[in-house]
Amino acid sequence: MTHPTANGHRPGPFWAPARAAALTYATRYRLPVFPLTRTKLPALPAAHPDGHPCIGQCGTLGHGVHDATADPQRVKGLFAAAPWAAGFGIACGRAPHHLIGLDLDRKNGVNGVTALRRLAAEHQFTVPRTTTVRTTSGGLHLWLTTPPGTRAPNSASRLGGGIDVRGHGGYLVGPGSLGPTARYTLAPDHGPREIAEAPPALLRLLNTPTPDPVRVPRPVPAGGSPRRRLDGLVRVVLDCGPNDLNNRLYWAARTALGADDIDPDEATARLLAAAVECGHPEVPARRTLGSAAKGAARDRMEA
Ligand SMILES: [Zn+2]
Repeated sequence: MTHPTANGHRPGPFWAPARAAALTYATRYRLPVFPLTRTKLPALPAAHPDGHPCIGQCGTLGHGVHDATADPQRVKGLFAAAPWAAGFGIACGRAPHHLIGLDLDRKNGVNGVTALRRLAAEHQFTVPRTTTVRTTSGGLHLWLTTPPGTRAPNSASRLGGGIDVRGHGGYLVGPGSLGPTARYTLAPDHGPREIAEAPPALLRLLNTPTPDPVRVPRPVPAGGSPRRRLDGLVRVVLDCGPNDLNNRLYWAARTALGADDIDPDEATARLLAAAVECGHPEVPARRTLGSAAKGAARDRMEA
């Protein structure tokens, strides 16, 4: 059976499974979902030009994470307008679950799983068994519910090495989504498929503001493999506050695009995905990446 879409495009090969998975999570868990491309970006074109303040009040689609809905009919409408969707995102911080995601990296000698266990021992809480998603790079996303009013910010490695938090304004890639290299899947060995509450001690840590907000991006060591350095630059973007994301994105992109041994296409795609996952609108983020590319080209000419 084929699904003709509202705007007349024949859906891509990954569209139907992505839509089915999104509908499952919207109906079974009442999670707000929206379609993503394979590069983990919102699959609907932006409704407005750069800098427009609308986050959906105009009533049209195309507001990134703000399009997310748990209403099955509206989910179908989103997918009908996104024939190139290959996955779906889940908006964090919204009713009824006020979901947060602990993104535990396991690569390059960093182990977020171990770091979380250490954090739990230190602050005397138990990491609950909860819905867990395996990422395409071997990491894990632990889903947790939080009480209404929690505004856990997005962060990277603030709680511990390899522990990133997807919170208010951010989104998680849903299980069944096709990423750049593989599919995100549920980790069946991580407990029941229900979403556990975040332990109060963890909530306190999440709500604790960073003692000294980092305004200047942390330096990334010049040594190490290109992949490792790009990972570090992506982390600079993920570890964003509400006000400094654009500066971080520019700095990270200019650094990555100025390096001879980092693939510029991969760097651009990953930095863009990181910024958008943190809730940065895609169009201005692309513009920032464009300015950074020009800056990096100028640096080269002057070198
Ligand atoms: Zn609008």
